[in-house]
Amino acid sequence: MVDDCNDPMALEADLFCDQEMDLDTIEHSVKDILEAIGEDVDREGLLKTPHRVAKSYAELLGGYRMDPRELVNGAVFDVGYDEMVIVRDIEFYSMCEHHMLPFIGRIHVAYIPSDKVIGLSKIPRIVDLFAKRLQVQERMTRQIAEYIDYVLKPQGVAVVAEGLHMCMMLRGVKKHDARMTTSTMLGAFRKDMSTRMEFLDNISRGAERLHF
Ligand SMILES: [Zn+2]
Repeated sequence: MVDDCNDPMALEADLFCDQEMDLDTIEHSVKDILEAIGEDVDREGLLKTPHRVAKSYAELLGGYRMDPRELVNGAVFDVGYDEMVIVRDIEFYSMCEHHMLPFIGRIHVAYIPSDKVIGLSKIPRIVDLFAKRLQVQERMTRQIAEYIDYVLKPQGVAVVAEGLHMCMMLRGVKKHDARMTTSTMLGAFRKDMSTRMEFLDNISRGAERLHF
């Protein structure tokens, strides 16, 4: 991890790992796990499995190597707009840090600009930046909100995440509809009930249940 406390972009630098993921080590470790399970690592179906798992980690955990500074570069605009901006139903895929099993779902984001807005396509990218790591849903939700707050200095930010957690669905309690909702409300969304309700009404209208 980058560690430079004098960097005014420290918040962003902290999120960014500038070393390549060590895929060889992951491959070797997965082979060890297969052996520990009692598998025959030389049987045909498993020969390439360590390599595939390493590559899938590189993708599923790609957030560590998305540079947050490049992400927003040139995508923040000054406009005279101060109404609520809502982007709903953004799909996310993350990995629970307790079990290294996926949790997936949807995120709804809103903000009220002070003077700056961000290109719409950047919001799903910001979601990916925080989702594609080892996470807990509560922290992911808060980080997305705080990052948008940091980049745009808006009047307020709201983020609601709905996630299905494989670690709850498949093991232990086996709740097949283990949906978890988390939210972070900052600024106007925290202080002003009607602002918060406007957002929550919007995202509940026509909301579909998650089906898998
Ligand atoms: Zn878990």
